[in-house]
Amino acid sequence: MPHPDDKSRPAGLSIDRRGFVAAGAGAGAGALATSPVKAQTSRHSHDDHNHAHDHSHVPSDAALTAMALESVLIGKGIIDPAALAALVEHYGRDVGPHIGAKVVARAWTDPEFCAELLENGTDALWSMGIGGVLTSMIKIVANSPTDHHLVVCTLCSCYPWPVLGLPPSWYKSPEYRSRVAVDPRGVLKEFGIELSDDVKVHVWDSIADQRYMVLPERPAGTEGWSIEQLETIVTRNAMIGTEILAPQSGTAPEVQA
Ligand code: FE
Repeated sequence: MPHPDDKSRPAGLSIDRRGFVAAGAGAGAGALATSPVKAQTSRHSHDDHNHAHDHSHVPSDAALTAMALESVLIGKGIIDPAALAALVEHYGRDVGPHIGAKVVARAWTDPEFCAELLENGTDALWSMGIGGVLTSMIKIVANSPTDHHLVVCTLCSCYPWPVLGLPPSWYKSPEYRSRVAVDPRGVLKEFGIELSDDVKVHVWDSIADQRYMVLPERPAGTEGWSIEQLETIVTRNAMIGTEILAPQSGTAPEVQA
């Protein structure tokens, strides 16, 4: 009797998802060993039937597709597993919104740096050791009580990787990319932002050699906070322009020295 999970198998696949994982464990063991996605097995009992047995938590179809591609590319010698593993680790550890948060917190506390950042984002970022090919042209745009900035890539998914890491899935979606261009206020409403009519909305359309990052407004209630404390409240979405940082109340967060 088929397991209920088997209903999710797309029509036309000659091997089911469990079968792929089982086959991959043998045929593509070297490739799968580098993948962050693996099938997990647990043994437990259920309330609705009184025996214990193994259950595999099978990765999503998208994850399985990525694993299959990885396996083929490694098998053909097109990519190096060690280089791929290093790349995954780099994006998991060294690159991400926490880098952008450092930039924002410094800009909030250092007017001279803030001016440099808005004048020439690339050079200012480089002065913090942030840069590389992808920041060859990066512009920082500052939100204010009169102006709200929103970043998109209407063509594909261009994004300021060195400061924000990898883009969220919604940023790459056709819905976001197309609707931001024609109805930015409507999109912002869906993110919970209702701007008054006297606030001007600017949409920045990224391209491969020109990326953008939003410098959000520093929220009220953060007076006297250290840079490290300020970093904790800066979010990825605020640096895309789809979030306005909320005023803070109470004491500043504790951060490790
Ligand atoms: Fe793009």
